[in-house]
Amino acid sequence: MEQHGNLSVVLYAKNDLRLENRPIPEPGPKEVLLKIDSCGICGSDVHYWQNGRIGDFVVKKPMILGHEAAGTIFRVGSGVQHLKPGDRVAIEPGIPREIDEHCRTGRYNLSPTIFFSATPPDDGNLCQYNTHDASYCYKLPESVSFEEGALIEPLSVAIHACRRGGVTIGSKVFILGAGPIGLVNLLVSKSMGASQIVICDLSLKRLEKAKQMGASFTIAVEQNMTPQELGQKVKQILGGAMPDISIECTGAELCVQGGVYATKSGGVLVLVGLGQPSVNIPLFDLLVREVDIRGVFRYCNTWPVAIDMLASKRIDVKPLITHRFPLEEALKAFETTQKGVGIKIMLKCDPDN
Ligand code: NAD
Repeated sequence: MEQHGNLSVVLYAKNDLRLENRPIPEPGPKEVLLKIDSCGICGSDVHYWQNGRIGDFVVKKPMILGHEAAGTIFRVGSGVQHLKPGDRVAIEPGIPREIDEHCRTGRYNLSPTIFFSATPPDDGNLCQYNTHDASYCYKLPESVSFEEGALIEPLSVAIHACRRGGVTIGSKVFILGAGPIGLVNLLVSKSMGASQIVICDLSLKRLEKAKQMGASFTIAVEQNMTPQELGQKVKQILGGAMPDISIECTGAELCVQGGVYATKSGGVLVLVGLGQPSVNIPLFDLLVREVDIRGVFRYCNTWPVAIDMLASKRIDVKPLITHRFPLEEALKAFETTQKGVGIKIMLKCDPDN
């Protein structure tokens, strides 16, 4: 294999996204050098491009974007035993930097010093070659494509959210938001045994997609709808029952509140959507009905499960992909994502494959 350069999608600052050639990095002893094949664009990549920051994470120096990736091992560091050049892998972007109490208890996503691809100041994978900790690269079976491997990242958010919510056989689930994250929650809820899944969104097109992907019922949220009305609507659709678990994937205050009203007494509301840092919660309703709110921050321990679910065809993420672009057209791909016309936009980083 000949090496040509390392075309990379680099965010310099707010609204300053550039395609440039970067040096091919050298893997450390515990790292691998990857030839990236496919990388999805996440809402957070677009947010960094448009705003230069997400909360306290501020782009202060040029950063390569992208954290939904899969590729081929090109070279391995001296201490890497379990991977070899040519292996196809999916890349978990979050790597704990220290074995703190969160790491020891298996919840390494909560480690405050965690490395995370494409979160400032850490570089991401929208490039042709990148190094990564070998322990966070997972071998893909031949039956799982690179694109599916890349989609393990958003799928992981849903596996974690559904685990946090306790979705199980027969659960009635209400998903707020039919964007990529709402839709992966739909797929995972179904595969965990949910019997009925209601999903809501403002976009009729996205609800149509949700229906095609297996939602039992959809609700078109109207701009003037109150959160109480949203809760009532779900109950009406479920024939008087209320969801055991609601999974909020919009970040909109109306949906956080609607999620509280919709969830049955003793049920769980999982918050995935990141909207305003503070929102009003109908505390009294939540408290007297013992609805638990559980936060979600990315994921942990999900890649092996996700690979098994994809390999066994129990979950099909392929319908999420609506657009594909070569890496050279990354700027166009970002503009397309920003317009919200598709669901998941995938970049092909390896022109030889
Ligand atoms: P997205 O913007 O593509 O989708 C959000 C959907 O919510 C859209 O379809 C939109 O129409 C819908 N929506 C917005 N306001 C609404 C309202 N008032 N009523 C009904 N629907 C409404 O985003 P996404 O990529 O699907 O991600 C969803 C959210 O999850 C984002 O806030 C993202 O930041 C967050 N997220 C959180 C984590 C985490 O670790 N907690 C991880 C990934 C994404």
